[in-house]
Amino acid sequence: MKILIATGNEHKFKEITDILPRKTKTGEDIEYVSLSGIGGLKLPPETGNTLTENAEKKAAYAARESGLPAISDDTGLEVEFLNGRPGVRTARYAGEHADADDNNRKLLNELEGLFLGKRAACFRTVACLATPSGDMLHFEGSLDGFIGFGYRGTNGFGYDPIFIVAGMRKTLAELTEQEKNAISHRGKAFRQLAAYLETLKQ
Ligand code: IMP
Repeated sequence: MKILIATGNEHKFKEITDILPRKTKTGEDIEYVSLSGIGGLKLPPETGNTLTENAEKKAAYAARESGLPAISDDTGLEVEFLNGRPGVRTARYAGEHADADDNNRKLLNELEGLFLGKRAACFRTVACLATPSGDMLHFEGSLDGFIGFGYRGTNGFGYDPIFIVAGMRKTLAELTEQEKNAISHRGKAFRQLAAYLETLKQ
């Protein structure tokens, strides 16, 4: 069985395929290919109003175009004080061409003066598995925490240096890759997807 991981990001491809199984319980091999592995298919833009809409749209398009079952995901950071923002706009929070530093600074500025209890936040990942014939399954994972008062740690990417994990007193950027994957929103969503793939029969 061949499954397309609908991402152009090789780091994400590795992170995801490290979690997914190589065989089903009946012993069938599962092989994973990335978008570059099928000739560089371009995904539609993330114009949906929810994480689910974006993940569904990318997975459905990739499955239809490639003729393979396809997996896609979308992640957002939801800050309680900001009524769930940046949410679906997490990647582009400080503008279309914003980088991680621009986004982090904007968020820190918006929460300036608030004590830790008012800085609750949650990372949420929705992963979708679509088939070429139009079936769609959803898997979700989340991670609770707080937006810190500045940058801490150098690992990871995106909002990791300002996201303090609930109950840990560390930011995601202060964890190793393995420690992060064991508790992360993406890790949780993809471990559920992995459990589902293992149950498949040919
Ligand atoms: P994507 O849906 O995985 O592309 O994620 C959207 C945006 O959310 C990214 O551009 C990052 O800024 C942020 N993001 C997603 N996952 C993480 C994470 O694990 N740590 C920090 N930031 C993340």
